[in-house]
Amino acid sequence: MTSPLILNSVADLRRTVAAWRAAGERIALVPTMGALHPGHVSLTARGRESCARVVVSIFVNPTQFAPNEDFSAYPRTFDADLAKLAAAGVDAVFVPSVSEMYPDGFGTTVTLEGPAVADLEDRFRPSHFAGVATVVTKLLLQALPDVAVFGEKDWQQLAVIRRAVRDLDVPVEIVGGPTIREADGLAMSSRNVYLSPAERAAAPLIYRTMQACAARIRAGEPGAVVAADGRAALEGAGFSVDYLELRDAASLARVADGAAGPRRLLAAARIGATRLIDNIAV
Ligand code: AMP
Repeated sequence: MTSPLILNSVADLRRTVAAWRAAGERIALVPTMGALHPGHVSLTARGRESCARVVVSIFVNPTQFAPNEDFSAYPRTFDADLAKLAAAGVDAVFVPSVSEMYPDGFGTTVTLEGPAVADLEDRFRPSHFAGVATVVTKLLLQALPDVAVFGEKDWQQLAVIRRAVRDLDVPVEIVGGPTIREADGLAMSSRNVYLSPAERAAAPLIYRTMQACAARIRAGEPGAVVAADGRAALEGAGFSVDYLELRDAASLARVADGAAGPRRLLAAARIGATRLIDNIAV
């Protein structure tokens, strides 16, 4: 098992990727914020399916956290992350500093409409997707990969990135990987470590409730009624629900009952101090 190359500068990343490309190899990039779990590792396998080289970036991006959010407390577990990436056969890890990504005088951001203003995550985290899209655009231009892999776990983020890449003509294929879950259904997340034992025991109710809602909607019940019931069930169990909504899977627009096309049920709920998100196909 060889350890991945550790790259700290954009120049080193570019040099490494250019050498691979000159050798005719395809490159996949998997952007992460570290605190890696099997969900992240599954994305590296997805990249490996079509690319000889896989690069994982680890960067806790300050611009996607609001001042009241957990940027300072966000788990940072670099040594354990590196061991997982070595075991997964990842070729390189790009770990830039904040000043490498945001040099003095940084003053350019991506402005978003479309799925970024769907009235879901953006209602509760108004500056979040501008931070995400800006850092992801930078990472794509820095690495110039053939493929970039993102998790369906963050469904709205995936839609925002697909839209931004299309709108800005970034020459990369965006691949979505399915949500990896704990045995009890809880979507894996770096933030699950924040949960107390009691909160961890309660957390799978989000997925169970969503599954029950999706089954009722598939059976023909009105989406709004079912979602209101799901919300009440979660609130009754002590969750504070930011949203639980049925949307068009691609545009994230609200959908009329019986409308054609894939639909997605998306939820965000707080339990104690921790905010969890999840989504499933309907
Ligand atoms: P993060 O480190 O949380 O920013 O996530 C990095 C990437 O991993 C994003 O594309 C996430 O959507 C993806 N991801 C996070 N959790 C999961 C999961 N449970 N299953 C699949 N992908 C995930």
